[in-house]
Amino acid sequence: MIVSPVFAGKRYAVLGLARSGLTAVETLLASGAHVMVWDSREEPRQAFCARSDRESVELGDPVTADLTGYDGVVVSPGVPLNKHPIAEAARRHDVPVIGDIELFALARESLPAHRVVGITGTNGKSTTTSLVCHLLESAGVPTRVGGNIGVPVLGEDPLPEGGVYVLELSSYQIDLTRSLDCDVAALLNVTPDHLDRYDGFEAYALSKARLFSMQDAAHPAVFGTGDRETGDIAETEELRRAPGLVRRVNGQDLVSFQKDWPSLQGPHNLQNAAVAVAIVEALGIPAARWQPALRTFSGLPHRMERVAEANGVLYINDSKATNPASTAPALAAFPPDPEPRIHWILGGLPKGDNLDECVPFFGNVAAAYTIGDAGARFAEILAPYTEVNRSEMMAEAIREAMARAKPGDVIMLSPACASFDQFRDYEARGLAFRQIVEALLELHDGHDAPADGVKH
Ligand code: ADP
Repeated sequence: MIVSPVFAGKRYAVLGLARSGLTAVETLLASGAHVMVWDSREEPRQAFCARSDRESVELGDPVTADLTGYDGVVVSPGVPLNKHPIAEAARRHDVPVIGDIELFALARESLPAHRVVGITGTNGKSTTTSLVCHLLESAGVPTRVGGNIGVPVLGEDPLPEGGVYVLELSSYQIDLTRSLDCDVAALLNVTPDHLDRYDGFEAYALSKARLFSMQDAAHPAVFGTGDRETGDIAETEELRRAPGLVRRVNGQDLVSFQKDWPSLQGPHNLQNAAVAVAIVEALGIPAARWQPALRTFSGLPHRMERVAEANGVLYINDSKATNPASTAPALAAFPPDPEPRIHWILGGLPKGDNLDECVPFFGNVAAAYTIGDAGARFAEILAPYTEVNRSEMMAEAIREAMARAKPGDVIMLSPACASFDQFRDYEARGLAFRQIVEALLELHDGHDAPADGVKH
């Protein structure tokens, strides 16, 4: 766990006792701060009280408490700041609203000499973050990943001198950060998402831009080239930095090597790889080190994950694709050969009313299988282009796809939707896909999937 003397004797309120909130409380208490904790639900409050008997912690709702003299209110990135009363309460007392990443930024001065990489974007953050970590580790650099990837950075043991913290940062986390000066910061892309939390797309893009305005102008920044908003932010940063410190990368120099990277297929992964390579180059890793490591990257579960190959049919779990922009590259990764070969399972809780980003790749789809709340609308959109099966349920969709798929085809769950209508989260949805595929393959004679269902 990260502990720092900078918090000694300070007062913080922590709102939201999930993973990152609890870790923040631990860091603050171990660092000698006084902490007021709260969660709107009683269960986490009680669980916290049951296991904490420390004197320097009290239970209290920072929305109604007197926050005079507090150094900050630490809120979880899940708290919608545009609607939640904590924003106004903190403003009234002139107390900054921050997140655990800001606490990390404040603690940096007491950590052994290190560097920090910050990675943001609408899609591809986790893949790029873990790829950067893999490339650095392959080059012998000690690293830790943290942030939105699901590991609270404050819970990590501090790195020895020369280490690199690689942080995946959502826009919510950036909104709660004020002083993080990344040694290298990167933006993959900006496409419409999370618009319930912002006053429009422009405000969402501006939130991403803050990762760069917080950086010292002497530090490098890396940008993808796929959309206008990312280009605009790169341009702003070029104006305030010396030439060469802003790199825009499209991956064209890497295209001929991509065939050798089993877990980085598709145009989106070329973008992720290009950004990751530019980041590690900015950290001084030579090509002789990063080039071979791209081949050994094993990818992340639920992101175009190969779960089985049987009777010449490949089964792909892309459950993490929760919006049409992230499904589009998965469809693009399997062009016709010579016939369309994707059996596309899609649907869930829709984030919008269309599949616009996917339209250019409808020609790659052999048949579609719709599930969940979005099923009817998606079936209507797809009907003019391809055969559509209104399967409703995942098991039915997989069964129908198996019945139709020919050798060389791909059965892919890439829902373009959130999962909450039928599953706890995208991980539960991806796991269900994998388990149903494995169970149905067991029922078929002569399949060639190995015991763990994975063929690498
Ligand atoms: P994030 O952490 O930003 O949600 P992930 O790396 O977990 O991103 O990838 C989530 C999904 O987004 C993947 O399943 C893939 O379909 C899609 N995706 C990944 N990288 C990109 C990219 N660079 N551009 C567009 N979509 C992408």
